[in-house]
Amino acid sequence: MGCTASRTKMRVAAVKTQTPQERAVMEKIEQLANQNTELVSPQELELIRQTFFSLQEIDETRRNKWLEAIQDDILSPLYFSVQGELKYSNEHPFIPIHEKVEEAGIKDFPTLGKTKEELREYALYIYNDFISAFNIDILKIQRLIFAISENYQNNPFHNFHHGFCVTQMLYAIGVKTNKYSDFLESKDHLALLVSAIGHDLNHPGVTNAFMINSRHSLAIRYNDTSVLENYHAATLINFLELSGCDIFSGFSPAEKVYMRKQIIPAILATDMAKHGQVMETFRNSMEHYNKENSDHKQAFMGMALHCADVGNPTLRFDFATVWSLRVIKEFNQQVWQEEQRGIPVSEFLRIGNDIKKIKQNQVGFIDIFILPLWRLFYSFVPQVVDYVEAIENNRRQWELIEKLE
Ligand SMILES: [Zn+2]
Repeated sequence: MGCTASRTKMRVAAVKTQTPQERAVMEKIEQLANQNTELVSPQELELIRQTFFSLQEIDETRRNKWLEAIQDDILSPLYFSVQGELKYSNEHPFIPIHEKVEEAGIKDFPTLGKTKEELREYALYIYNDFISAFNIDILKIQRLIFAISENYQNNPFHNFHHGFCVTQMLYAIGVKTNKYSDFLESKDHLALLVSAIGHDLNHPGVTNAFMINSRHSLAIRYNDTSVLENYHAATLINFLELSGCDIFSGFSPAEKVYMRKQIIPAILATDMAKHGQVMETFRNSMEHYNKENSDHKQAFMGMALHCADVGNPTLRFDFATVWSLRVIKEFNQQVWQEEQRGIPVSEFLRIGNDIKKIKQNQVGFIDIFILPLWRLFYSFVPQVVDYVEAIENNRRQWELIEKLE
């Protein structure tokens, strides 16, 4: 980073060479400093400043990359408004029922080919069955879907399309399994689909390790334990508490408590650190499954949501690959940020853009996590046979690519 004297020199030079984009970034940094926000420590700000000035001497590509990252990530809502400033409108965002929404229940739904607006329509269709069954206010469900869709960040992977994709997969499996009627009551099915659409709300595009290592205030709040999952669940519950989108307002107090008790653990089960535990609890519950037992139902819901959350390899190869590349992009961004911040680097996320490494990563991920997980789910829910077959097929496709080289 150079000595103090040369940095002062660079600082002077920097003022002269600033582009409008650079000026905008510097203004935001100054703004942050003035706000004296607890979300960005003075040390962090100083680091940003110093890096900025030292970057004046670095080639343009790298500098632009840094500016991009600082705008997209460091100055993203995570650091500005993640605490209690979620976007919410009390107006009535009318979402019409889409004409062709029957396709909402198919496997390989083309989520990535749809706009956010279209996905809201499909989402409304997905919850439509519950509207009459539970006497849910249609305006409230619309507001909730709208608020959720607006409070996912535009990360390469953890965005509203991912939230919807997970929900749609669970809905489609519900269509095949007569609404999970062997395992869940109708209200559990609703809790599962509500958990799904909100399970990554306002995800910052980095992992729990990053949150902990960067001493983010959310890591402090949740004592380094399932930091993001706790945050997503609390954020979803926050929306459900708002009178404008309290879709459970017609429920009795006891039923409301029940819904909350089903939703929170389902979202907490999406923490990859709990992968083994989620499988174990599911296996144990299934051995003597009782639909009256809410622990058993929780185990089922946690497993189902976790499966769908990492369920991209169950899609047809081209869809699965796009999602894979997106998650790899997000991982690469995190590694880059970790290096910039001087915090421990998550080496296992360093995949880069080397096709060989991507292949290794995909096959390894399928072998270690995805296949054992989905095979276990399939052993009790045989209707997901084509999901497991798709994973096996995708694995073969990756190997085939490897052989072509
Ligand atoms: Zn997710």
